[in-house]
Amino acid sequence: MKAAILDGYVDEPSCLGVPPYISPYPRYIYGMLKDLGIPAYYTTIDHFRRSREAKAYFDRVDIAIIIAGIAVPGKYLGGKPLSLTELGRLNIRAEKKILVGPIVLETEMRELETLDYEVLPFPFEYHLFRLLCRIAGEKDREIESESSSPTRNFVNRFAVLGSEVVRQHPEFPNLICEIETYKGCYWRGCSFCIERIHSVPQMRDGKAVIDEIESLYRNGIRHFRLGNQTDFLTYGGDFSKEFPKPDPEFMLAFHREVWRRCPNIKTLHLDNVNPKTIAEYPEASAEVIKTIVMYQSPGNVAAMGLESADEGVVEANNLAAMPDEVMMAIELVNKYGRYIGHNGLPYLLPGINFVIGLKGETKETFEKNFRFLEEVMERGLLLRRINIRQVKILKGTPMESFGDKNVRRHKKYFRRFKERVRRDIDTEMLKKIVPVGRRITSLRCEVKEGKITFARQLATYPLLIGLIGEYDRNTWLDARVVDYGQRSITAVEAPLDVNRATLKQLEAVPGIGRSLAAKIVAERPFRSIEELKKVLGNQFKNPELWLSIAL
Ligand code: SF4
Repeated sequence: MKAAILDGYVDEPSCLGVPPYISPYPRYIYGMLKDLGIPAYYTTIDHFRRSREAKAYFDRVDIAIIIAGIAVPGKYLGGKPLSLTELGRLNIRAEKKILVGPIVLETEMRELETLDYEVLPFPFEYHLFRLLCRIAGEKDREIESESSSPTRNFVNRFAVLGSEVVRQHPEFPNLICEIETYKGCYWRGCSFCIERIHSVPQMRDGKAVIDEIESLYRNGIRHFRLGNQTDFLTYGGDFSKEFPKPDPEFMLAFHREVWRRCPNIKTLHLDNVNPKTIAEYPEASAEVIKTIVMYQSPGNVAAMGLESADEGVVEANNLAAMPDEVMMAIELVNKYGRYIGHNGLPYLLPGINFVIGLKGETKETFEKNFRFLEEVMERGLLLRRINIRQVKILKGTPMESFGDKNVRRHKKYFRRFKERVRRDIDTEMLKKIVPVGRRITSLRCEVKEGKITFARQLATYPLLIGLIGEYDRNTWLDARVVDYGQRSITAVEAPLDVNRATLKQLEAVPGIGRSLAAKIVAERPFRSIEELKKVLGNQFKNPELWLSIAL
């Protein structure tokens, strides 16, 4: 018996699997198959689209498992997720075809029923393992799994067993592994959010999470995001209280153990933080934030849901935190996290999310939202990312009955608000966070567009860098900031080899400009910085910072 896993990518409020990310799901599934002695092939939808061999492989196997579902759509540089329409046209001829992932939350059952797949409920792990046991004729294992209570610790064994699948990913080793620490949210009340499908928060045991990280590390992974939870601050915390309380000692021990076992990790980041936790427990939260700053890598972002700065909207949608509580959380993260780390970025900054189209939203809501951001600027606080999205109406949420009427009604306010934020807030923030001349390290080139190459760090919410020049995919380099786009940065390789640089690259270096760049090109090759300095004159200070000479 053979199996194949097709990763159509997922994007949930607390789980990302679009490259360079790999979500935990293919790893868990591979682990289940390995546990049952079923060899499995794994690939991504991007590779499947361009590879006849991959397609043929899926036609030959007994079991094909497809992972899909973009519950919170974004713009993706690293891959194109599998859509429902494309899913219907895949035409895979495997004997048994199984569909898993958050796609079941965003799609009507009758639409899914038209597909030739067995569709599993979400979260799917427990159901899938039982189904695989049945297919494999492992009756005893099926019964054994039935008797064990399906908490999130159910995945622990499979997470370790399945970690080797990362080596089959077409982008390996340039991957960042999304790590699950817990599912669910104690609040569970926000009108638009799917986290309510998890009845109560279910923690994974800290030791099991570290075992998984170590196993991935042994398989060559160096980039991790502790991103698969609704509030990283409360991982391992005390959930017996009305609002869960962070446990600073657990967090410190957890992080120390990760580094003890995996000393050469390059990226250790997080994703979601609930601002309500900071507002309720500022002291315990501050201790955990200090641990994150000290033990995770710089360039980190604590993504927080503000959703709306209009108190009426907060109330109408039962959102967790009031705007003043979110402001306080932004302040606390800034207090400890805003200092610059070795890779050119602040250690930890807050990010905030706005959701547009909620109940109670009016024209004034957009003014209040903008005013909130202005206040952040006036207080001198930094925000690494402002995410503005229209609400996606998901099944089983209170927004299902309300529908998308405010989305439709407020389309033009949404567009204007977004433009205003991009124009008046985002660029100003970027100038403060990464000023001109800042060296940003470990950039991975991804996509060439004309004379520009887009590159990013392997990170949580990485900055998009438009590098002047043409670089091959997967070239790694450092660069210095020269200018700003909307939500992106323009940079030149640092240091720039003057004997090989293009005219455009030289021109972009602040202080060189067009005529000096032309003079440099006419006079090269240079054999030393001293020779170069004669051409540069005295006005261009510290050429070593920007330029180099490779003979
Ligand atoms: S606080 Fe609200 S938006 Fe955040 S995970 Fe919980 S229910 Fe969802």
